[in-house]
Amino acid sequence: MIKEVEEKVNYCLNCKVKPCSLKGCPLNNHIPDFIQALKKEEYFEAYKILSETTVLPGVCGRICPHEKQCQGSCVRGIKGEPVSIGELEAYTFDKVHELGYHLSDCYEKVEKKDKKVAVLGGGPAGLTCAAFLAKEGIQVTIYEKYDYLGGLLMFGIPNFRLPKEIVENTVKDILDLGIEVKYQQELGKDFTLKDIEKEYDAIFLSIGANCSSKMGVEGEDLKGVYGGNELLEYNLHPNYKGKKVIVTGGGNVAMDCARTINRLGAKEVTVVYRRAEEQMPAEKKEIQDAKTEGVKFAFQNNIVKILGNEKVEKVELIKTKLVQKEGESRLSPVNIENSNYQVDVAYIVMALGSKPQEYVKDLGLELNKWGNIQVDEEYKTSNPKVYAGGDLAGMKGTVAWAAKSGREAAKNILKNI
Ligand code: SF4
Repeated sequence: MIKEVEEKVNYCLNCKVKPCSLKGCPLNNHIPDFIQALKKEEYFEAYKILSETTVLPGVCGRICPHEKQCQGSCVRGIKGEPVSIGELEAYTFDKVHELGYHLSDCYEKVEKKDKKVAVLGGGPAGLTCAAFLAKEGIQVTIYEKYDYLGGLLMFGIPNFRLPKEIVENTVKDILDLGIEVKYQQELGKDFTLKDIEKEYDAIFLSIGANCSSKMGVEGEDLKGVYGGNELLEYNLHPNYKGKKVIVTGGGNVAMDCARTINRLGAKEVTVVYRRAEEQMPAEKKEIQDAKTEGVKFAFQNNIVKILGNEKVEKVELIKTKLVQKEGESRLSPVNIENSNYQVDVAYIVMALGSKPQEYVKDLGLELNKWGNIQVDEEYKTSNPKVYAGGDLAGMKGTVAWAAKSGREAAKNILKNI
């Protein structure tokens, strides 16, 4: 084992109460156990322990907001730095693949059962649900609108954070559990829920919610204004060379957009965020990396309107102050009167959150007040045969939470069919 990994492994206290696992990790991965296996250089055992709760260790190890999840609850973090749990998880995945082990080696072989489940959408929630069903012998078919699986993992997260090879290896491992895939099959376009309902014992809906929310400001429809989610998902970037770009938003999608655009040669990329840096939902590491790479930040600023003749030419910004409003848990930004100013800009990227696609309203399933599919504690929708998870069902927006919804839905499907 390389010295750096050895030091990280030995730094873990193997706590009996394991807050990293029980409090921090949405998937409740058996963190101290896999670290102890790593310590003994039992790499496959470490991977097997992880695979009891997750089929995405190579992904989550790299892109989870660890400081808010497992590492945020690590006992070592109380007085110093937490254990580098994410790095160790990613290391385990990489190491076992290097040694030639695969996910199917972790599970007992079972006979195929006479039960069929359709999984609509092959992102983190769908892949996890499919895997946890297939390993129990359920006949699973994934319906995927693209000609590749992985959803946002494939193109929604830049390669510098999550190499495509890791996603491809993860997907291949999952499919090797014996899962059928129907590519280029989009719900609402190529088939309806009714078309397939009779064919399957249950359906798991995990088609995501990747339509960028709008600000509702003047000029938002001008050419050169993009939605952050779509920009990353479809990878349809304009030529940024020599141009000034503004990205508005404070989450990891905003950081991914800003860093990607910066790497694509923009003259200047500025993240406009209406609150202060401390309130940014993006991970500290992502913010720091963006700064190091040259991305600029305009905290406590907000877009008032976008100006231009057909295409974006300028943006009007206003400065904000933060006030504590009654009933609000965090400080709210309030515009400072007469602090407006205009700057030249060629492109604006809205990275302010996302919502489900329009056709979700027509699926005949109950929605919650945010327009997500309403699910109960079993991830069941208003149609007892249909379950839903991931962003579509309004899960907390991280890969681990999406994966958890897929895994728990699979358990309930197994119990109910
Ligand atoms: Fe190890 Fe930290 Fe978990 Fe304790 S809380 S078992 S030190 S990773």
